[in-house]
Amino acid sequence: MVVIVDTITNPLRPRHPEKVNRPDSASPPKPDWIRVRAPNTRGYADTRNIVRANGLHTVCEEAGCPNIGECWDKKHATFMIMGDTCTRACAFCNVKTGLPNALDAAEPQNVAEAVAKLGLAHVVITSVDRDDLADGGAEHFAQTIRAIRAACPSTTIEILTPDFLRKEGALEVVVAARPDVFNHNLETVPSRYLTVRPGARYFHSIRLLQRVKELDPTIFTKSGIMVGLGEERHEVQQVMDDLRSADVDFLTIGQYLQPTRKHHAVMRYVPPDEFSSYEKVAYTKGFLMVSASPLTRSSHHAGEDFARLKAARAASAR
Ligand code: SF4
Repeated sequence: MVVIVDTITNPLRPRHPEKVNRPDSASPPKPDWIRVRAPNTRGYADTRNIVRANGLHTVCEEAGCPNIGECWDKKHATFMIMGDTCTRACAFCNVKTGLPNALDAAEPQNVAEAVAKLGLAHVVITSVDRDDLADGGAEHFAQTIRAIRAACPSTTIEILTPDFLRKEGALEVVVAARPDVFNHNLETVPSRYLTVRPGARYFHSIRLLQRVKELDPTIFTKSGIMVGLGEERHEVQQVMDDLRSADVDFLTIGQYLQPTRKHHAVMRYVPPDEFSSYEKVAYTKGFLMVSASPLTRSSHHAGEDFARLKAARAASAR
């Protein structure tokens, strides 16, 4: 699923021009516990056909997600709006980088139609970073949420947004559209930001999540990190504390996998029992929900997790 050259729109353009001259970095071979289902079922093909027919992009494909066989078989796709080209160049990410095209005004409606065709009870919408737009794409996010609400009133909506860094007022526009879950991933611990996520700022991301809760305490907030990027255990625990200080409800922790040899190397495959240990620690710190396993991804099992999240909030309010 990993793509290193954009053979469809421009066969001569590398997918990650900024990484072409980087030395290759080798990762250790994958351990036995990282095994995924091959994407070859009828459900997978149906999902792909609906995505294609509506001219949409998914992060499942663009990021080379290892869970695509399982998720698409169940018609769970995570739509990636605002194009397939990102203005950041994070060291872990396989989404194409460069200068994006203008926004497609029909996209919010096309996404809503695809959600209806797939019959989704819960949908996750993410996007590329659009630093080129004055509002970072906030209004487009809001339009997409409104279009889904109109077409599928019973579908719950989870968004996974960029950080809207230096986009004054953008977050407020998205929150006003009232998604059910607002997710923004920290991706890694603060000491790794400069190499892993150089265009972002750790405390800005924490503050973004905190601000969502200040603006609308009914919205569930969620964030996640990848492990295996050279972080220390105590740093992961510090991230948990920082997220709890921002009143974040749901934490996801998954194993980083290297998309190509030009991307950040996997420094370590974290064994499953360490993920279990992280999960236990995170619950003791007060998260309503925690998902920590090698193949945990923000949107993996998002529908089931949302139901559990609601139940956990209701139980804690009793
Ligand atoms: S985990 Fe998320 S990104 Fe990966 S295939 Fe499933 S829905 Fe798509």
